[in-house]
Amino acid sequence: MKNPNGEEIINFLNSRWAGAVCPLCQGREWNITDKIFELREFNNGDLVLGGPNCSIIPIVPVTCGKCGNTIFINAVSTGLMRE
Ligand SMILES: [Zn+2]
Repeated sequence: MKNPNGEEIINFLNSRWAGAVCPLCQGREWNITDKIFELREFNNGDLVLGGPNCSIIPIVPVTCGKCGNTIFINAVSTGLMRE
């Protein structure tokens, strides 16, 4: 699977995020990153690499600049990640 570069991530978020309000503090200033992170399936505290019990969701975090509330955007659902 091909990962998007930083510019593609920033351009995608800028095109979709206009005017969004933080549900916690009603702030409108958001900090974005040009990197993709991952959420790993919980395995009772063990780090499992690969296999059927190692589901991973690639995410782009978007953080409220006022209160720190962080929203995870699924990078696969955005279409940014390609086969
Ligand atoms: Zn906030």
